[in-house]
Amino acid sequence: MNKFLFLITLFLFIFFLFPKKEPPPNIFLITLDGVRWQEVFYGIDKNLVEKTNYVNDKQLLLDKYFTIKLSERRKKLMPFMWNYVYKNGKLFGDSLKMSNFSLTNNKIFSYPGYNEILTGKADSTINSNAKIYNKNITILEKLNQTIDYKNKIAAFASWDVFPFIINDKRSGVPVNAGYMSELNLKTPIVNYINKNQKRTPVIWDNVRLDVYTHNLALEYIKKKKPKFIYIAYGETDDFGHSEKYDFYINSLNYTDNMIEELWNYVQKNKFYKDNTYFIITTDHGRGLMENWPNHGKSKASWLAILGPKIKNTGLVEGNFYASQIAETILNMSKGIDTKIPIE
Ligand SMILES: [Zn+2]
Repeated sequence: MNKFLFLITLFLFIFFLFPKKEPPPNIFLITLDGVRWQEVFYGIDKNLVEKTNYVNDKQLLLDKYFTIKLSERRKKLMPFMWNYVYKNGKLFGDSLKMSNFSLTNNKIFSYPGYNEILTGKADSTINSNAKIYNKNITILEKLNQTIDYKNKIAAFASWDVFPFIINDKRSGVPVNAGYMSELNLKTPIVNYINKNQKRTPVIWDNVRLDVYTHNLALEYIKKKKPKFIYIAYGETDDFGHSEKYDFYINSLNYTDNMIEELWNYVQKNKFYKDNTYFIITTDHGRGLMENWPNHGKSKASWLAILGPKIKNTGLVEGNFYASQIAETILNMSKGIDTKIPIE
């Protein structure tokens, strides 16, 4: 055997003995606080606009988002969700079409909701939104103990309770939340946000505007390439409590646009392209009509998933639960089957 043949044989031997392992997937978990399934699947609620006092300029809002045809109405509110996710991924939670996606906690407010999503189990002992370190272990903490994801995890949130929900101290997961400056990065955009987020009119002391959370997260993604990132948008719920349906609707529309920006970045980036999943959901719903500013009593929620191995089926019929998200993420990270169907 000449030298050349020997090298070829050796190469083939190594190639077949040690096939190149697919890198574990990247996962983006995204939550929109207190966004009802009704708006996600049915667009703007015309009745609510016309029969309550939760909108300043009713005509302006209806001109922008209302049209009789449902398939067009929801596209006006969430164009990325309906033009792209629906056609490339899976949606859960249209209660009128036998697709149920429900919370299992009885509290129907944020800390218990996020705890359920992130840990995979409702905890009846969590009965307030107080800044108490979570005793339960979230999927972020769990993944941070694996070889593939260790120190490649981060969370960005508008609401300042998230460091406690994720237990940043114990988990070792960096959580940038509320009006926190981002100190791990020094880019012009990060410096601008660190300097100006508190100079913009502060509407809520404990929730910053989502545009800052989003852009800090995007900068972090670009520079640090986390394998798991959690982005928790918050405005929608707070505009709800402020009884401003027009602001809630506009915020939902912008958030859909920000998620599209993330997805478009992912598709253009070598590190993320074709190996990144998006999981989009909410912590709780809202009441009907005059009860809309509050969370209501329904456990109905919704979920959207998108990614390379997710077979496009649009709406998925059946009964699914927010408590299945954490396990789905864990299985997704290992490339195995999940209760929330991916294939
Ligand atoms: Zn709320």
